[in-house]
Amino acid sequence: MFERLRILLHNGKQYIPDPARAEVPGVFRGRPVISTEKADDDKLVELCPTGAIASEEGLSIDLGKCCFCGECARKCPNKIRFTKDHKMATNVRERLVVKEGEDRPIELDKAAIRPEIREIYSGSLKLRQVSAGGDNSCEWELGAISNVNFDAGRYGIEFVASPRHADGVVVTGPITRNMSRALAICDEAVPDPRIVVLAGTDAISGGIFEGSKELDRSWLESHKPDLYIPGNPCHPLTIINGLLALTRSR
Ligand code: SF4
Repeated sequence: MFERLRILLHNGKQYIPDPARAEVPGVFRGRPVISTEKADDDKLVELCPTGAIASEEGLSIDLGKCCFCGECARKCPNKIRFTKDHKMATNVRERLVVKEGEDRPIELDKAAIRPEIREIYSGSLKLRQVSAGGDNSCEWELGAISNVNFDAGRYGIEFVASPRHADGVVVTGPITRNMSRALAICDEAVPDPRIVVLAGTDAISGGIFEGSKELDRSWLESHKPDLYIPGNPCHPLTIINGLLALTRSR
């Protein structure tokens, strides 16, 4: 008994007490901020490998396309800097576009959340993950939300082996032709009301593979995502806070 208590005291708290207030240690690129300082906008547009930077009506970065390589901030630190704000998930695609001169949190549009999501899934959300041509990075981070540090299980958020036991589908990867049918079959096996989550840049826009003939993203034409989680890969705190914002009114 005393030995067990000694071990418990020695180990301390393993879990992150509040994911909403947690800070990511070390190097992390979260929500970017674009200053109004003068810069060579065209050069920045040109250097971005995924076409995430646009220069119409001031500079902007589309986090649904950004692979968070940091090249723009390295080239032009006075113009672009990445904050450590990890809460970047939203349910409105346009909200992923960060505009010049803006420095405000990215949030969900509460009015756009289907009422049944909060009614049914606020205490328990079981998800089936489909890697549709993913590179195992977002998949790895999705797995990490269940570990002892992030402990998404305390909120009832878990991944399940069968879509028939799931409340929704989490898609990673750019959705390749080879995986598009498998994704559709998995989705059809999830009972209604089901939710759709796109996790990571590749899933949201195709990422560096956008426009490739090896992709078949037609499934998204008939499935409106309930949540976009940016990141390349997305951080476990971005994932957990996004899912909590979608399912809970805390
Ligand atoms: S960090 Fe994002 S916006 Fe900047 S160059 Fe890389 S992909 Fe483009």
